[in-house]
Amino acid sequence: MDPIKAMSLLNRACPYLARTGMTALQGLADAGLSGGMRSLSTSAVEQARCGVCPGHTGQSALLAKASECPVVGPSIRANDAAAAAKAAKACSQHAPPATVCPYAKCVESAGNASPPGKTDVAPVSHESKEGVFDYEGQYQAKLAKKHGDKSYRYFNNINRLAGRYPQAHTANASNIVTVWCSNDYLGQSKNPVVVDAMKSALDTYGAGAGGTRNIAGNSALHLRLEEELATLHRKEAALVFSSCFVANDATISTLCSALPDCVIFSDKMNHASMIQGIRHSGAKKHVFNHNDLDHLEQLLAQYPRSTPKLVAFESVYSMSGTVGRIPEICALAKKYGAITFLDEVHAVGMYGPRGAGVAEHYDYEASLRAPAGQRIAGSVVDQVDIITGTLGKAFGIVGGYIAASSSLVDMIRSYAPGFIFTTSLPPPINA
Ligand code: PLP
Repeated sequence: MDPIKAMSLLNRACPYLARTGMTALQGLADAGLSGGMRSLSTSAVEQARCGVCPGHTGQSALLAKASECPVVGPSIRANDAAAAAKAAKACSQHAPPATVCPYAKCVESAGNASPPGKTDVAPVSHESKEGVFDYEGQYQAKLAKKHGDKSYRYFNNINRLAGRYPQAHTANASNIVTVWCSNDYLGQSKNPVVVDAMKSALDTYGAGAGGTRNIAGNSALHLRLEEELATLHRKEAALVFSSCFVANDATISTLCSALPDCVIFSDKMNHASMIQGIRHSGAKKHVFNHNDLDHLEQLLAQYPRSTPKLVAFESVYSMSGTVGRIPEICALAKKYGAITFLDEVHAVGMYGPRGAGVAEHYDYEASLRAPAGQRIAGSVVDQVDIITGTLGKAFGIVGGYIAASSSLVDMIRSYAPGFIFTTSLPPPINA
């Protein structure tokens, strides 16, 4: 379009430029580095960004004036930003010295990132008759490896009968077996009190939670359950997860990535959920021999007291049945400035006068005497910083949790993806 005509159209459309006389606008346009109204075009804006590279001249006077306009100014600035990114790329094509071209620096500082939709991989011809990757073949090879080393898993078909604990029928309903390997240690999954609570919650609130905790899936039942778990472990707060695998993974990974330069000390026989959390945290880790206090101390002593450290261990080890040396490990942790993470999965509901686990069992009498929920200063429970447990074993249903200080629990609640981005436990489970 003829620049003068474009100018007059713009003049009428823009309440800001309308107040600028035609002669003044003409002057501004003429002063534009790429010439007249063309200096308003995107390419001119791109070129206007860089005063160093060949072809990248200075800022257009007309553009500078127009960007003061309250109406078109914001969109010019937004355009300008996009154009700057494009100009940066153009700069790199001119290959100016990085020290001279500011946009070449931008390209460098972006880690030479490929533009969206492009990769650094050399272009591939798709004309060849080359076959696609053999996905099924890969699955079968992995399975063959499992069969080869005899680690392939066959699942039993076990249908535990509500009225006949610990009996079940197999795939054949008339074949009754006794189940001695269940983690429903106390038969709570069939306890009429439990079943009735679930039925009543089902009738009142339905089967599903309806969302994640931070959207529609946070209910009074979740809060009551967490309050009850905090009371059970005499901690300030508790947080419920879909399972204790998730609780361990989410808590360790979130916590140890939040503590700067955190070092983790993990018992050699720790459960896979803790190992997963340690991996996901990206923190440095040391594995100490199972229940070996000397080895743990040797590893802890390498670090200054001020380095954040986490000692992760269990109370009842799932594979060996051995019991963790809780008071001794807590004492070592305190000596070297570490916090403790105790998995009481196989102990909650089983040990201690109130079923809080092995840590509570150490102070049996004191725990019996103290009011529910009240902190017992100096007790073993009091020395453990984070206790994790499951609702899926002695408590008979499903779910996992942590119990700790309010700020730790709130931090995990606020940062752990494994807590935030998943549907919360359904009402009957909480009940
Ligand atoms: N921690 C230990 C020691 C376990 O043995 C298990 C499960 O067997 C878990 C954590 C995971 O608990 P959940 O079944 O609630 O995921």
